Amino acid sequence: MSKDTSSHSPIHVIGGGLAGSEAAWQIAEAGVPVILHEMRGVRGTDAHKTDGLAELVCSNSFRSDDATSNAVGVLHAEMRLAGSLIMKAADANQVPAGSALAVDRDGFSDAVTAAIAAHPLISVVREEVRGLPPREWDLAVIATGPLTAPDLAESIRAETGADALAFFDAIAPIVYTETIDMDICWYQSRYDKVGPGGTGKDYINCPMNEEQYHAFIDALVAGDKTGFKEWEGTPYFDGCLPIEVMAERGRETLRYGPMKPMGLTNAHNPTVKAYAVVQLRQDNALGTLYNMVGFQTKLKYGAQAEVFRMIPGLENAEFARLGGLHRNTYINSPTLLDGTLTLKSRPGLRFAGQITGCEGYVESASIGLLAGRFAAAERKGQALTAPPATTAFGALLNHITGGHIVSDDEPGKRSFQPMNVNFGLFPPLDPGAITKPEGVKRFRGKEKAAAKKQLTAARALNDCAAWLNG
Ligand SMILES: Cc1cc2nc3c(=O)[nH]c(=O)nc-3n(C[C@H](O)[C@H](O)[C@H](O)COP(=O)(O)OP(=O)(O)OC[C@H]3O[C@@H](n4cnc5c(N)ncnc54)[C@H](O)[C@@H]3O)c2cc1C
Repeated sequence: MSKDTSSHSPIHVIGGGLAGSEAAWQIAEAGVPVILHEMRGVRGTDAHKTDGLAELVCSNSFRSDDATSNAVGVLHAEMRLAGSLIMKAADANQVPAGSALAVDRDGFSDAVTAAIAAHPLISVVREEVRGLPPREWDLAVIATGPLTAPDLAESIRAETGADALAFFDAIAPIVYTETIDMDICWYQSRYDKVGPGGTGKDYINCPMNEEQYHAFIDALVAGDKTGFKEWEGTPYFDGCLPIEVMAERGRETLRYGPMKPMGLTNAHNPTVKAYAVVQLRQDNALGTLYNMVGFQTKLKYGAQAEVFRMIPGLENAEFARLGGLHRNTYINSPTLLDGTLTLKSRPGLRFAGQITGCEGYVESASIGLLAGRFAAAERKGQALTAPPATTAFGALLNHITGGHIVSDDEPGKRSFQPMNVNFGLFPPLDPGAITKPEGVKRFRGKEKAAAKKQLTAARALNDCAAWLNG
């Protein structure tokens, strides 16, 4: 039964997870009625255990709550400024976890479910939506997450094209460019190939001698790994093997695969041929992030940091994200969605949450928040103003809808991979903004990096407040 008391026609939100619940809340708070379709109660997923909205399927942590120098903490703060239901329910159900925001998962989900049920403009329908929204649902948001039910996934695939919907992610670690030691590494494309949009110097190359290579292979093979859950299946296919599985197939496999040294000359030591080379490729348009080519992995996070810092030039690498392979339904958003998360081929139909290619509870909810606001503004005939790129909202949105770059040397190959929010997605500060504070003696590497984070965080919150007020 509809609880609509507004003059607007309803917006349909499909999926009552982190993103869909937040989207529904934002739409309703803007005075527009919502019909929220959630299948749990009628049909479950392989990971959810309850019928509650916004169920946390695994960890109970929303990660760092430090809004002064951590990107996810900044995202928390921006969501609070925007009246987020997810953050309100998280704050009300917090459990002790140091500087992280962790929650009582049942209390959190109950609070979201109760707030949605009590909102006069939201009606919840327990049903599986089996195809793309019918045309009469003129404004709709799909927020069905990493475990989107198969019939709907098939319809999305039919609309977007077979290559545009992935069922697994295969994520190679991503490194902050400024933490790569360029006294050891050098820029060069293999055989100096320029390609359609390159310069011949598009990759960062890390050289290894024979001894270093064998020590690295030993560490890869010995490193702690995570397994697949039974329901995930084993998604290995030859173009996408975890790096450690390749290493297990033979000591030289990687030297003839992703670590081949051919066509590369060490700019610091041109006469000595590297035994193997690890290549990193630019990952975002800003050039602040590079991904390790072919290094998708099931190594545990702790082991990854340890093993990958054995690579010459990456000894002090900081990782914007570590690698992984998971069951995950997500679309190729940079080509499919416009800047307000609308499917270019279906005006009025938006995507939100993890299915757009963000990763994690907080990021998914934040993209739900934006999709909800955009949809409500569209229904009310208001201008759709995207958050500034300097905010955490804007940085994540830009990654999803366009900041990620497609590799020129692999035309047609999709390389968009899910991403957590991190400072590498934010535009650099204005030159001269990072000045030595008065009275501080040492202001180099670590101190400078800390100051940079703090200034980026402060700029984000300032610009977010201005965006919300404007
Ligand atoms: C096994 C697993 C473990 C994870 N662990 C973590 C973790 O520890 N920390 C973390 O931050 N992130 C984790 N994630 C990622 C996490 O799931 C997402 O970050 C977050 O839940 C995504 O929010 P969402 O709203 O996009 O999707 P979800 O929260 O999954 O919500 C999607 C909703 O849509 C519903 N739905 C699906 N299809 C239909 C349909 N056809 N009709 C109607 N309803 C439908 C589902 O029932 C679900 O309620 C994990 C994911 C998986 C699969």
